[in-house]
Formats: sequence, C-alpha cells, structure tokens
Amino acid sequence: MNILIISYLITSVTFILGLKMLSNPATARKGNLIAAAGMVIAILATIFLYEEEGVKLGNYGWIFGGLIIGSVVGTLAAKKVKMTAMPQMVSLFNGMGGACAALISIVEFDHLVHNYNPDDFTFFSSLDGTTLLIILAGLIIGTVSFAGSMIAWGKLDGRVKDFSFKGQQVFNILMLVVLIGLTAFILIARPEETILFFYVILALSIIYGIFFVMPIGGADMPVVISLLNSFTGVAAACGGFLYDNKAMLTGGILVGAAGTLLTILMCKAMNRSLTNVLIGNFGGSSAASGGAKAQGTYKEISLSDTAVLLSYSNRVYIVPGYGLAVAQAQHACHELEKLLAEKGVEVKYAIHPVAGRMPGHMNVLLAEADVSYDLLKEMEEANDEFNSTDAVLILGANDVVNPAAKTDPTSPIYGMPILDVELAKNVIVNKRSMKPGYAGIENELFFRPKTSMLFGDAKKVIQDLIGEVKNL
Ligand code: NDP
Repeated sequence: MNILIISYLITSVTFILGLKMLSNPATARKGNLIAAAGMVIAILATIFLYEEEGVKLGNYGWIFGGLIIGSVVGTLAAKKVKMTAMPQMVSLFNGMGGACAALISIVEFDHLVHNYNPDDFTFFSSLDGTTLLIILAGLIIGTVSFAGSMIAWGKLDGRVKDFSFKGQQVFNILMLVVLIGLTAFILIARPEETILFFYVILALSIIYGIFFVMPIGGADMPVVISLLNSFTGVAAACGGFLYDNKAMLTGGILVGAAGTLLTILMCKAMNRSLTNVLIGNFGGSSAASGGAKAQGTYKEISLSDTAVLLSYSNRVYIVPGYGLAVAQAQHACHELEKLLAEKGVEVKYAIHPVAGRMPGHMNVLLAEADVSYDLLKEMEEANDEFNSTDAVLILGANDVVNPAAKTDPTSPIYGMPILDVELAKNVIVNKRSMKPGYAGIENELFFRPKTSMLFGDAKKVIQDLIGEVKNL
C-alpha cells in the first residue's frame, strides 16, 4: 500500500469538502480549516514519504526554513489585514501562487536542459515534447498571473494608476500571439536557441501580465483577480502534471475551475460580459463621466425620527454595503438589529451579490459580528419582500441600490440587478456625503420622495441610533 498516494487522496478529498463548505457562511470557516489541514498532510507526505529511485527529498533546512518564514509572514499578514483591504491580500497571495508555478517551470526546464551540449545537434529535439509543453504552459500562465496580480494589488491599494494607450488591446492581442507563436516554434522546430527563447518567453509573459491588467477599470479588479486566480490554478495543475503529484493536480484544477465559475458569476451579477470587464475600463478614471447626473433636492432625517420610524415598524430590511465595511460598523449594526427585534420588529438583511468589494464581502462582515445566517436574505428573496416592508435602512451601500441600473440605458451599470428598495414604504440612506459609490455615478434614489438621508459615519450613526431607540 502506497501511503504517499493515500495521503494525496485524503488531501484531494479535503480540498473538495472544504470548497463545498465554503459555499455557506455557517460552514465556511470549518471548510477552510479542513482544506488547510489537507494541505499540511500533502506537504508533510511529500517531504517525508516522496522518493525518487530510493532517494528522499533531503534539503530539510531549506524546506523548513521556507515553510517557517512563509507561515509567519502569512499568519501576521492575515491577522493584520483590514476587511476592506482583503481583495488586495487575495491578489497578493494569488500572485505568489502564480510565481511559485512559474518557478517550478523554470527549475524543471533547468533540469531538462541540464546536460546541454552545444555539439549535440539533436539535443533539443530529443527532449520530451509533453514535458516541454507543460513546462512552457506553466511558465506563461503562472508568470502572467503573478505580474497581473501584482498590478491588481497596486491598483486596489491605490499605488498604481489605470494606464492605457490607443491601440492597447491590439498590442495585447499581438503580444499574446507572439507568446503562443514562440511556444509553438520551440515545440515544433526545437531550435538551437531554445534556452534563450525560454527566457524571452518569461520576459514577454511578465510584460503581457502587466499590460493585460493595466487598462482594466478599478471597479473590475475583483473580477480580474478571480480570473487571475483561475490562471494560477491552471499553472499549479501544470506543476502537478510535471511532478505526477495528484494532490497538486487536484488542487490546481479545483482552483482553476472555481476561479472560472466565480468570474462568470460575478460578471452575471453585474450583468456584464467578461470582454466588457476586460476592455470596458469600468470604474476606472473614465467611469466617473458615465451615467446621468441626478438632479433635485434631497431631504434629511434626524436620528430621533429614524429611531421612531424603525421602532414602530413591523418589518425592517437593512441593506449593508461597502461603507459598512469601511466604518467597521458590523457589531453596532448587529446590536441595533437585536434591539429592534426585542421591540417586536422583524429585522432582516438584504444581501446584494456584489455589495462591498469582493464576493461574499457582506456575508463575511456580518458573520464576524455573529449575525444569524437565517437573517441574511439573498437579493431575489429580499426584492419579493420589499413591498411588505415598512422601512429599509441602507448602511453604506450605493451602486447596489441605484435605480439607474433599471432606468438609464446610458448608465455604466445599466442591466445590473439591484435591490428594489423603493418598493418599501420608507427608505433611509446612511452615508457620509452625496459622493458617488465605486462606479463613480450619481444615484437618483437619494432624491426620490420616499428617501431620507441620514448623514454620518455608519458606526457613529448606528451607535447614536441605538441610544435613541433605547430612550424611546
Ligand atoms: P458603493 O461603493 O457603491 O458605495 C459605498 C458607499 O459607502 C459610498 O457611496 C460611500 O459614500 C459610503 N461610505 C463610505 N464610507 C462610509 C462610512 N464610513 N460610513 C458610511 N458610509 C460610507 O458600494 P456598494 O456596496 O453599494 O456596491 C459595490 C460596488 O463595487 C458595485 O459597484 C459593484 O459592482 C462593485 N464591485 C463589487 C464586487 C464584489 O465582488 N463585491 C466586485 C467588483 C465590483 P460617502 O463617501 O458619501 O460616505
């Protein structure tokens, strides 16, 4: 019985189980831990059980040195990161995965051409074609994912500005054609300059990764990260092929498939095609010019009036958005919800699939504050219930409740499904100013007769509101 293979099998099962459990907030944490435990099994099994021609891996100092440094840096970064900076971190970690996959290709290529002898004219043609193909695929995909993720990280962190030039899409396509052409040339012609071309491909892949992400609009970064994530998965799967490592292969394929599905789901939730995401420059420097300017006057509501309205409602829906995460107001929000429930008000949360800055952002945020999962209602269910709702309290959300998505065909968010909050009797919007949300467009909802604005930082406003409700 081969214990190594059984360990990889166990790992593969934990990956699948973990991924399945991630689809529900109630089991997500456990799922993550189960998959991580599977990864530990795979790493330890490889280090201690893998052998080639009777020789074990060795190099334990290097291996454990790397493991310890990586674990310390990863743990500290994960503990320190703010919820609002999570997409940046995902991007950074994804980039590291891409770099690892590319490094595997570089090391394996070095092994392959280790005995290169310039006098042996048949050397390159005698190399195994499949191995060479997988090495090159891993190199290109991993490197593009690394370079692209670094740019995505820089953009989300405000360090890199959107950059594009006339004809950039054509330039990008040309570069891709050159990359594929060069790879095919190496595989078919096996030229004397194979080693040189290999490093040319590496350099071109870095440039392509940068130029691929550079022109994409800031608001689309989470979609791009998900796409790059799937690239990293495929690149890791190439590594799994090279090493005949079943766990790496399964892990890579799962990441590749999950990343692709997530990309499609996010595009669907925003009603945009992937092509539009990749060349649309949505939410980038030009997005602010899109969409009609909302006109008219808005009315404000006081804290005490809000407290009365909410306390004497039968049903209240809270709509959380990116601003709730910025204000870190999830705990205060949960307290308000419990307080209203004690007064006999039915309180629920309406969760838009792209509220916040990453998939599941609001679910994770509210789970952090121990909000019961039963209270979180998906967009379709909430939309069905708004017409029997007395008050909707919007906390730091904007684009996901913008009626322009339904009414204004010129709006960049036209066609995106939104939360139909206007069906409710009253709409209260909490934000700090009249500034637009991430798509950079005005929101007519704020000027509609049923809407009242409650200005201020979400955390402070909710805390004051709690005081007012208690005093009633
Ligand atoms: P938005 O970015 O549209 O709006 C957030 C609002 O929060 C702003 O208008 C801001 O107004 C307000 N805000 C900021 N800080 C605070 C604070 N401290 N207290 C109170 N309010 C605050 O967020 P939404 O969640 O509505 O929409 C998400 C957007 O991100 C959509 O455009 C979506 O397409 C996009 N997106 C989301 C992805 C995802 O996976 N979730 C992926 C890709 C894109 P003010 O400055 O006046 O306070």
